[in-house]
Amino acid sequence: MNAPIKNDRIEWLQGPSADTTGENAAKCAVVPAERKNPWRIILLGAPGVGKGTQAELLTERLGACHLSTGDVFRAAGKLRQCDQSPAMKAALEFMRRGELVPDTTVWEMVRERSHCLLNCGGFILDGFPRTLGQAVSLKDLMEKEQISISAVLNYELPIDEIVRRLSGRRTCEKCKAVFHATERPPKVASVCDHCGGRLLQREDDRPESITVRMEAYDRSTAPLIQFYKNLGLLLPIVAKGTPNEILARTMDGLEKLEERA
Ligand code: AMP
Repeated sequence: MNAPIKNDRIEWLQGPSADTTGENAAKCAVVPAERKNPWRIILLGAPGVGKGTQAELLTERLGACHLSTGDVFRAAGKLRQCDQSPAMKAALEFMRRGELVPDTTVWEMVRERSHCLLNCGGFILDGFPRTLGQAVSLKDLMEKEQISISAVLNYELPIDEIVRRLSGRRTCEKCKAVFHATERPPKVASVCDHCGGRLLQREDDRPESITVRMEAYDRSTAPLIQFYKNLGLLLPIVAKGTPNEILARTMDGLEKLEERA
Protein backbone atom coordinates (compact mmCIF):
# COMPACT_ATOMS: atom_id res chain seq x y z
CA MET A 1 0.00 0.00 0.00
CA ASN A 2 1.27 3.51 -0.77
CA ALA A 3 2.06 5.86 2.08
CA PRO A 4 -1.11 7.81 2.84
CA ILE A 5 -1.43 11.32 1.42
CA LYS A 6 -0.60 13.63 4.31
CA ASN A 7 -1.15 17.27 4.84
CA ASP A 8 1.61 18.99 6.75
CA ARG A 9 -0.41 19.78 9.82
CA ILE A 10 2.48 21.02 11.94
CA GLU A 11 3.15 23.69 9.34
CA TRP A 12 -0.50 24.77 9.45
CA LEU A 13 -0.04 25.70 13.07
CA GLN A 14 3.15 27.66 12.67
CA GLY A 15 1.97 30.69 10.70
CA PRO A 16 0.38 33.37 12.91
CA SER A 17 -2.90 33.20 11.06
CA ALA A 18 -2.45 30.12 8.90
CA ASP A 19 -3.07 32.37 5.90
CA THR A 20 -2.13 31.03 2.48
CA THR A 21 -0.66 34.18 1.00
CA GLY A 22 1.90 35.68 3.38
CA GLU A 23 5.51 34.77 3.98
CA ASN A 24 4.49 32.40 6.79
CA ALA A 25 1.77 30.88 4.66
CA ALA A 26 0.51 27.57 5.95
CA LYS A 27 0.60 25.18 3.02
CA CYS A 28 -0.45 21.60 2.55
CA ALA A 29 2.26 19.22 1.39
CA VAL A 30 -0.28 17.83 -1.08
CA VAL A 31 -2.74 20.12 -2.83
CA PRO A 32 -5.67 18.19 -4.33
CA ALA A 33 -6.12 18.44 -8.10
CA GLU A 34 -9.07 20.47 -9.38
CA ARG A 35 -12.18 18.36 -9.97
CA LYS A 36 -15.38 19.11 -11.84
CA ASN A 37 -17.59 17.74 -9.07
CA PRO A 38 -15.39 17.64 -5.99
CA TRP A 39 -16.48 15.40 -3.11
CA ARG A 40 -17.19 17.36 0.06
CA ILE A 41 -17.63 14.77 2.73
CA ILE A 42 -18.12 14.74 6.51
CA LEU A 43 -17.25 11.59 8.47
CA LEU A 44 -19.34 10.86 11.57
CA GLY A 45 -19.09 8.00 14.04
CA ALA A 46 -18.02 7.33 17.62
CA PRO A 47 -14.30 7.46 18.46
CA GLY A 48 -12.73 4.17 17.36
CA VAL A 49 -15.09 3.26 14.49
CA GLY A 50 -12.18 3.78 12.10
CA LYS A 51 -12.93 7.27 10.71
CA GLY A 52 -9.22 8.19 10.59
CA THR A 53 -8.34 5.08 8.58
CA GLN A 54 -11.28 5.60 6.21
CA ALA A 55 -10.34 9.28 5.85
CA GLU A 56 -6.84 8.26 4.72
CA LEU A 57 -8.17 5.66 2.27
CA LEU A 58 -10.83 8.01 0.91
CA THR A 59 -8.29 10.81 0.54
CA GLU A 60 -6.16 8.53 -1.63
CA ARG A 61 -9.17 7.34 -3.62
CA LEU A 62 -10.98 10.67 -4.10
CA GLY A 63 -7.98 13.02 -4.08
CA ALA A 64 -9.64 15.47 -1.69
CA CYS A 65 -8.12 17.50 1.17
CA HIS A 66 -8.17 15.60 4.48
CA LEU A 67 -8.80 17.85 7.47
CA SER A 68 -8.72 16.17 10.88
CA THR A 69 -9.19 18.59 13.76
CA GLY A 70 -7.84 15.94 16.18
CA ASP A 71 -4.61 15.69 14.13
CA VAL A 72 -4.27 19.48 14.13
CA PHE A 73 -4.60 19.56 17.93
CA ARG A 74 -2.11 16.72 18.32
CA ALA A 75 0.33 18.58 16.06
CA ALA A 76 -0.14 21.68 18.23
CA GLY A 77 0.79 19.58 21.25
CA LYS A 78 4.19 18.92 19.65
CA LEU A 79 5.06 22.61 19.31
CA ARG A 80 7.35 24.13 21.93
CA GLN A 81 5.38 25.48 24.92
CA CYS A 82 6.42 29.04 24.04
CA ASP A 83 4.96 28.65 20.53
CA GLN A 84 1.55 27.55 21.82
CA SER A 85 -1.07 30.29 22.15
CA PRO A 86 -3.05 30.39 25.45
CA ALA A 87 -6.15 29.17 23.56
CA MET A 88 -4.17 26.26 22.13
CA LYS A 89 -2.76 25.35 25.58
CA ALA A 90 -6.29 25.33 27.01
CA ALA A 91 -7.50 23.22 24.06
CA LEU A 92 -4.77 20.65 24.69
CA GLU A 93 -5.85 20.30 28.32
CA PHE A 94 -9.43 19.48 27.21
CA MET A 95 -8.03 16.97 24.74
CA ARG A 96 -5.81 15.21 27.29
CA ARG A 97 -8.85 14.66 29.50
CA GLY A 98 -10.80 13.25 26.54
CA GLU A 99 -13.24 16.21 26.65
CA LEU A 100 -14.33 18.25 23.65
CA VAL A 101 -12.45 21.48 22.96
CA PRO A 102 -14.80 24.52 23.15
CA ASP A 103 -16.59 25.42 19.91
CA THR A 104 -15.04 28.91 19.69
CA THR A 105 -11.48 27.52 19.68
CA VAL A 106 -12.35 24.76 17.20
CA TRP A 107 -14.14 27.13 14.84
CA GLU A 108 -11.29 29.66 15.01
CA MET A 109 -8.90 26.92 13.95
CA VAL A 110 -11.15 25.61 11.17
CA ARG A 111 -11.91 29.12 9.89
CA GLU A 112 -8.16 29.80 9.61
CA ARG A 113 -8.00 26.72 7.41
CA SER A 114 -11.01 27.61 5.29
CA HIS A 115 -8.78 27.25 2.21
CA CYS A 116 -8.94 23.50 2.96
CA LEU A 117 -12.73 23.70 2.76
CA LEU A 118 -12.93 25.98 -0.26
CA ASN A 119 -10.28 24.28 -2.42
CA CYS A 120 -11.50 22.97 -5.77
CA GLY A 121 -10.49 19.36 -5.10
CA GLY A 122 -13.02 18.84 -2.32
CA PHE A 123 -12.49 17.79 1.31
CA ILE A 124 -12.93 15.01 3.82
CA LEU A 125 -13.69 16.24 7.32
CA ASP A 126 -12.69 13.84 10.04
CA GLY A 127 -13.64 14.73 13.63
CA PHE A 128 -15.35 17.98 12.64
CA PRO A 129 -18.12 19.06 13.14
CA ARG A 130 -18.58 17.48 16.53
CA THR A 131 -21.37 19.62 18.02
CA LEU A 132 -24.52 21.21 16.64
CA GLY A 133 -22.87 24.63 17.06
CA GLN A 134 -19.95 23.58 14.86
CA ALA A 135 -22.32 22.05 12.29
CA VAL A 136 -24.30 25.29 12.06
CA SER A 137 -21.10 27.37 11.68
CA LEU A 138 -19.97 25.06 8.87
CA LYS A 139 -23.37 25.20 7.15
CA ASP A 140 -23.34 29.02 7.29
CA LEU A 141 -19.85 29.14 5.75
CA MET A 142 -20.82 26.71 2.98
CA GLU A 143 -23.96 28.72 2.18
CA LYS A 144 -21.99 31.96 2.12
CA GLU A 145 -19.49 30.41 -0.30
CA GLN A 146 -22.31 28.79 -2.32
CA ILE A 147 -20.91 25.30 -2.05
CA SER A 148 -22.60 22.25 -0.59
CA ILE A 149 -21.76 19.08 1.30
CA SER A 150 -21.96 15.97 -0.92
CA ALA A 151 -22.58 13.43 1.86
CA VAL A 152 -22.25 12.77 5.58
CA LEU A 153 -20.97 9.25 6.16
CA ASN A 154 -22.08 7.81 9.48
CA TYR A 155 -19.92 4.83 10.48
CA GLU A 156 -21.83 2.45 12.77
CA LEU A 157 -20.34 -0.18 15.11
CA PRO A 158 -21.40 -1.85 18.42
CA ILE A 159 -19.77 -0.34 21.54
CA ASP A 160 -17.82 -3.46 22.67
CA GLU A 161 -16.15 -3.63 19.25
CA ILE A 162 -15.30 0.09 19.49
CA VAL A 163 -13.57 -0.30 22.87
CA ARG A 164 -11.53 -3.26 21.54
CA ARG A 165 -10.43 -1.23 18.52
CA LEU A 166 -9.47 1.83 20.53
CA SER A 167 -7.37 0.00 23.08
CA GLY A 168 -5.35 -1.76 20.33
CA ARG A 169 -4.88 1.32 18.13
CA ARG A 170 -1.31 2.48 17.51
CA THR A 171 -0.40 5.63 15.56
CA CYS A 172 2.90 6.51 13.89
CA GLU A 173 4.44 9.49 15.68
CA LYS A 174 5.89 10.77 12.39
CA CYS A 175 3.40 10.20 9.52
CA LYS A 176 0.28 9.48 11.65
CA ALA A 177 -0.52 6.22 9.84
CA VAL A 178 -2.84 4.08 11.96
CA PHE A 179 -2.26 0.40 12.87
CA HIS A 180 -3.88 -2.05 15.26
CA ALA A 181 -1.89 -4.24 17.64
CA THR A 182 -3.76 -7.40 16.54
CA GLU A 183 -6.04 -6.59 13.56
CA ARG A 184 -3.74 -4.47 11.42
CA PRO A 185 -0.28 -5.06 12.89
CA PRO A 186 2.84 -3.46 11.36
CA LYS A 187 5.39 -5.77 9.68
CA VAL A 188 7.87 -5.05 12.50
CA ALA A 189 6.46 -4.59 16.01
CA SER A 190 6.09 -0.91 17.04
CA VAL A 191 7.61 0.37 13.75
CA CYS A 192 5.63 2.15 11.02
CA ASP A 193 5.51 0.27 7.68
CA HIS A 194 5.45 3.54 5.74
CA CYS A 195 8.17 5.71 7.28
CA GLY A 196 9.90 3.67 10.01
CA GLY A 197 8.54 5.99 12.74
CA ARG A 198 7.71 4.73 16.24
CA LEU A 199 4.15 3.51 16.81
CA LEU A 200 2.58 4.92 19.95
CA GLN A 201 -0.70 4.62 21.80
CA ARG A 202 -2.54 7.95 21.85
CA GLU A 203 -2.80 9.50 25.30
CA ASP A 204 -6.59 9.68 24.93
CA ASP A 205 -6.87 6.01 23.91
CA ARG A 206 -6.18 4.97 27.52
CA PRO A 207 -9.21 3.43 29.29
CA GLU A 208 -10.03 6.43 31.53
CA SER A 209 -10.10 8.84 28.57
CA ILE A 210 -12.05 6.43 26.36
CA THR A 211 -15.02 6.54 28.76
CA VAL A 212 -15.03 10.36 28.81
CA ARG A 213 -14.81 10.49 24.99
CA MET A 214 -17.73 8.09 24.60
CA GLU A 215 -19.86 10.23 26.91
CA ALA A 216 -18.89 13.38 24.97
CA TYR A 217 -19.84 11.60 21.75
CA ASP A 218 -23.29 10.53 23.02
CA ARG A 219 -24.02 13.96 24.45
CA SER A 220 -22.65 16.27 21.74
CA THR A 221 -22.00 14.43 18.50
CA ALA A 222 -24.77 11.85 18.24
CA PRO A 223 -27.40 14.66 17.73
CA LEU A 224 -25.60 15.52 14.47
CA ILE A 225 -26.94 12.29 12.98
CA GLN A 226 -30.49 13.66 13.10
CA PHE A 227 -29.32 17.10 11.96
CA TYR A 228 -27.79 15.70 8.76
CA LYS A 229 -30.63 13.20 8.29
CA ASN A 230 -33.05 16.13 8.23
CA LEU A 231 -30.89 17.76 5.56
CA GLY A 232 -31.06 14.54 3.48
CA LEU A 233 -27.28 14.10 3.58
CA LEU A 234 -26.84 11.11 5.88
CA LEU A 235 -25.36 7.90 4.47
CA PRO A 236 -25.11 5.13 7.12
CA ILE A 237 -22.16 2.72 6.67
CA VAL A 238 -21.66 -0.52 8.61
CA ALA A 239 -18.11 -0.22 10.00
CA LYS A 240 -17.49 -3.97 10.48
CA GLY A 241 -14.70 -5.83 8.69
CA THR A 242 -11.30 -4.82 7.35
CA PRO A 243 -10.52 -1.22 6.35
CA ASN A 244 -10.71 -2.21 2.67
CA GLU A 245 -14.11 -3.87 3.12
CA ILE A 246 -15.43 -0.74 4.82
CA LEU A 247 -13.92 1.40 2.05
CA ALA A 248 -15.65 -0.77 -0.58
CA ARG A 249 -18.99 -0.29 1.23
CA THR A 250 -18.34 3.46 1.40
CA MET A 251 -17.48 3.73 -2.30
CA ASP A 252 -20.61 1.73 -3.12
CA GLY A 253 -22.74 4.20 -1.16
CA LEU A 254 -21.05 7.20 -2.80
CA GLU A 255 -21.48 5.73 -6.29
CA LYS A 256 -25.21 5.21 -5.67
CA LEU A 257 -25.45 8.84 -4.53
CA GLU A 258 -23.67 9.98 -7.69
CA GLU A 259 -26.06 7.94 -9.87
CA ARG A 260 -29.06 9.55 -8.17
CA ALA A 261 -27.66 13.10 -8.60
P1 AMP B 1 -10.04 12.78 17.37
O1 AMP B 1 -8.67 12.45 16.90
O2 AMP B 1 -10.93 13.28 16.28
O3 AMP B 1 -10.65 11.67 18.17
O4 AMP B 1 -9.89 14.03 18.39
C1 AMP B 1 -9.09 13.93 19.56
C2 AMP B 1 -9.53 14.99 20.55
O5 AMP B 1 -9.33 16.30 19.98
C3 AMP B 1 -10.97 14.95 20.96
O6 AMP B 1 -11.21 14.01 22.01
C4 AMP B 1 -11.19 16.39 21.42
O7 AMP B 1 -10.59 16.63 22.68
C5 AMP B 1 -10.37 17.18 20.39
N1 AMP B 1 -11.20 17.52 19.20
C6 AMP B 1 -10.94 17.15 17.92
N2 AMP B 1 -11.85 17.64 17.08
C7 AMP B 1 -12.74 18.33 17.84
C8 AMP B 1 -13.91 19.05 17.56
N3 AMP B 1 -14.39 19.17 16.30
N4 AMP B 1 -14.58 19.64 18.60
C9 AMP B 1 -14.12 19.55 19.86
N5 AMP B 1 -13.01 18.86 20.20
C10 AMP B 1 -12.31 18.26 19.21
